Amino acid sequence: MTAKSKKIQSILIANRGEIALRVIRACKELGIRSVAIYSDEDVRAVHVKRADEAYHIGPAAPAQSYLNMDRIIETAKAAGVDAIHPGYGFLSENENFSESCEKNGIIFIGPRAKAMEVTGDKMKCKAVMKKAKVPTVPGSDGIIEDVEKAADIAHEAGYPVLLKSAFGGGGRGIRLAKDEKQLRQEFEMASAESRAAFGKAALFVEKYLQRIRHIEFQLIRDSHGNGRHLFERECSIQRRHQKLIEMSPSPVVDQKTRERVGEIAVRAAAAVDYLNAGTAEFLRDQEGNFYFIEINSRLQVEHPVTELVTGLDLVKLQIHVAEGGELPFKQEDLKMNGCAIECRINAEDPFYDFAPSTGIVPNCNIPYGPGIRVDTYLYPGCNVSGYYDSLTAKLLAWGRNFDEARVRMRNALDEFSIEGINTTIPLYRTIMEEENFIKGELSTDYLERFKVFDKMNEEVKERAAKGAPAAVAAALLHGELVKRSSSTTQSSNNGSSSKQSRWKMTPKVAS
Ligand code: ADP
Ligand code: ADP
Ligand code: MG
Repeated sequence: MTAKSKKIQSILIANRGEIALRVIRACKELGIRSVAIYSDEDVRAVHVKRADEAYHIGPAAPAQSYLNMDRIIETAKAAGVDAIHPGYGFLSENENFSESCEKNGIIFIGPRAKAMEVTGDKMKCKAVMKKAKVPTVPGSDGIIEDVEKAADIAHEAGYPVLLKSAFGGGGRGIRLAKDEKQLRQEFEMASAESRAAFGKAALFVEKYLQRIRHIEFQLIRDSHGNGRHLFERECSIQRRHQKLIEMSPSPVVDQKTRERVGEIAVRAAAAVDYLNAGTAEFLRDQEGNFYFIEINSRLQVEHPVTELVTGLDLVKLQIHVAEGGELPFKQEDLKMNGCAIECRINAEDPFYDFAPSTGIVPNCNIPYGPGIRVDTYLYPGCNVSGYYDSLTAKLLAWGRNFDEARVRMRNALDEFSIEGINTTIPLYRTIMEEENFIKGELSTDYLERFKVFDKMNEEVKERAAKGAPAAVAAALLHGELVKRSSSTTQSSNNGSSSKQSRWKMTPKVAS
């Protein structure tokens, strides 16, 4: 194995946006030469400026640039790098890419192909977890080829059920069926959607758990078989199965539960011989039972939440582990300090069913202050492209306790202005003052359950009446849309992808 105990001197970052910058910063701290790649669309992107070197790799379309494996490997070889960091999204969970790196003598900063093959197939992964006595959601034991079999299994598990694509990700490929009639309708649609997005129909049935929380455990495992969990993150505030707000600790996880479920998460990672940073995702029902749903085999969007409460640098740890180093701490050495909240600032209009909003940002004001961290690619004059993921910034607030973090977050949201595009900031402002959020009364249907969009609309009107600041006035330009959106945003759950950015619809690259 070439990857054993080699000090990494240079890293190519096979990604863009805030995560490319995040990795470049870690490289700079470690004295590692950083190499960026960019598409036509990203010529003026900030990750290109900050890296020590940058290579143009192709047109804007991801398939021809950030997903172009051969081109990226070629570039890595030409630049003479030791390792590739894939970030999240794009090629990060592609086992062929991991394998191809190794074959070319380049360290892939992430798990090996074999583990990824299992974690990338939810059905395979579930089977391995069952064997390792990790509790999973009841459902089918394998891929369901025809609708009759799906109906049988759904009948047995009891409605409602979910149809899930074994290769789904980013909240896509999940459809709800409340009864047999709906199951029959959705089955064809779900198959087609899965084929379009992931290249394979591969559906399975899972019991739809109601009023649940999404609680996940950050994991890190080295090549010597040491595995640790870095506590939980609660990610229950979601829209269409996609996370919007994440926090740590979870208001419903006490120390005993943390240790118990954390141990299960470490066991889950060991069961697939996991290497590097990853996340074990669980659903928690109202009785407090945890069910494993999947392992995300990459650094996750929300990893800074964990960094803020543990004081660790996950990217530096990733690099250390990729070099063949041993984890420098035992489970009992780790302590949680305070509370962190993250809001994903997406270029989407929350007043208009999250329609993508793209273009040049003529100006922006990034918040600062005690406990505030912002991971972003934004700068005055930057381009928010419709080709890629809608995440423009991750706003994080840390406090000694939840309330301090929450108030800091609220104030930072007020300071944050991004001109020229619509973002999810107004929604988060409402949530930070929402009574159920404050009480920690969370579930994956939080937004609909507590009519949060209605509250957001009311609040904007109220603020305007009091003499709105610029950001609110901009939101008010949607007066017409505010009325229309309150009906559309209630729906959800059909997994519709028509409004998703082109990048989100890009198939996971060729197997
Ligand atoms: P997290 O679990 O941290 O919320 P996501 O599941 O949202 O992360 O995925 C991280 C990023 O990768 C998101 O921006 C998402 O849109 C993207 N992504 C996830 N799966 C795929 C996929 N199969 N193809 C393309 N992009 C994906
Ligand atoms: P993805 O790979 O797209 O992230 P996941 O399996 O992790 O898919 O599920 C994403 C989200 O979908 C979860 O956070 C949860 O909100 C919802 N979900 C998934 N499985 C179930 C289930 N069995 N019952 C209810 N909700 C679920
Ligand atoms: Mg998931």
